[in-house]
Amino acid sequence: MIIGFYTIDNLVSFLLQADKTYCFVTLFLSENWYYQFPAKWGVQNDAMIFQTRSRFITEKRKVKSMNILVCIKQVPESNKVEVDPVTGVLKRNGADSKMNPYDLYAIETALRIKEQEGGSICVLTMGPVQAEKVIREAFAMGADRGILISDRKFGGADVLATSYTISQGIKSAGDFDLILCGKQTTDGDTAQVGPEISEWLNIPCVSNVSRIVELDGNSIAVEMDMTDDIEITKIQFPCLLAVDKDIFMPRLPSYVKKQETKDREITVINFSNLKDQDEHHYGLNGSPTQVQRIFPPEVNAHREMWSGTAEKLTGQLFHKLQELKFI
Ligand SMILES: Cc1cc2nc3c(=O)[nH]c(=O)nc-3n(C[C@H](O)[C@H](O)[C@H](O)COP(=O)(O)OP(=O)(O)OC[C@H]3O[C@@H](n4cnc5c(N)ncnc54)[C@H](O)[C@@H]3O)c2cc1C
Repeated sequence: MIIGFYTIDNLVSFLLQADKTYCFVTLFLSENWYYQFPAKWGVQNDAMIFQTRSRFITEKRKVKSMNILVCIKQVPESNKVEVDPVTGVLKRNGADSKMNPYDLYAIETALRIKEQEGGSICVLTMGPVQAEKVIREAFAMGADRGILISDRKFGGADVLATSYTISQGIKSAGDFDLILCGKQTTDGDTAQVGPEISEWLNIPCVSNVSRIVELDGNSIAVEMDMTDDIEITKIQFPCLLAVDKDIFMPRLPSYVKKQETKDREITVINFSNLKDQDEHHYGLNGSPTQVQRIFPPEVNAHREMWSGTAEKLTGQLFHKLQELKFI
């Protein structure tokens, strides 16, 4: 038995040259479709006999080209972020900033998927004009397009307003099969933006993704690291994944790519480009929370695992929050 992949053009010459009599033939018909069948051949009375007893099997090629969006954030070099005591807004002097380290893993994940399956990668950041720097860094790693969501009206946004603004930006940017976020940032550190974007876009989300198990044209199966357990989840596209560090080792930006992309245009999305023109949904106006104090959390190893329908779990969570006097 020979396993091989041949186009119709070279199949016959291969069969004549080969000294084996069985093979597994795959005929590529287009980018997405192929016929696959086991076959037997031989030479009889100077004529080549080619037989297949199996019926043709038609399959869709495993994966389509992916349209991937990666959300990246510019963060201060230092993780000591202060809070303005009057406004409750995080103080960033903006002088020394870098790409949020967790977002490097998200970019690397997108690059690996693109290298394997084809497609295109767009990176998106919400921030001041200087945040363009992290988009250029992503270009030097291999991203194809960049979007900067920037407007003074978005300043002072908390997590809710940030995720809403980003989701509005995504809606005006186009359709994406897969949205990738880092697990968390090194400044705000809430790990809430990714899941909240997925809620606003009404698409499924998996957080703490530590490995891609399988990918096909309609869905992706991933490992979710739950600290004590690993859960494997399969979700349909379009979806959002918040990836953990170590999913892949991020590559270094390439000097050649940096030079090649130094003049590449970056799409800027501001308030006027968004569908929702209600200013109360953005920036400080759209932020119901205020930072009072920043401190390292206490380590609490106590965990409860619940299972059941979404309806049952929602009720259970509601009662738990009441019991803990959070609501
Ligand atoms: C009351 C309040 C006021 C604030 N004021 C300001 C302010 O004036 N200026 C300011 O800069 N911040 C401000 N912040 C912080 C800001 O809300 C958070 O930085 C932002 O919501 C992101 O949250 P996070 O850093 O916890 O991200 P996480 O949820 O930890 O991030 C997870 C992932 O989401 C994606 N992501 C997060 N943020 C962005 C982004 N901006 N663009 C693209 N992708 C992103 C990344 O993939 C990231 O890895 C304020 C926060 C509060 C609560």
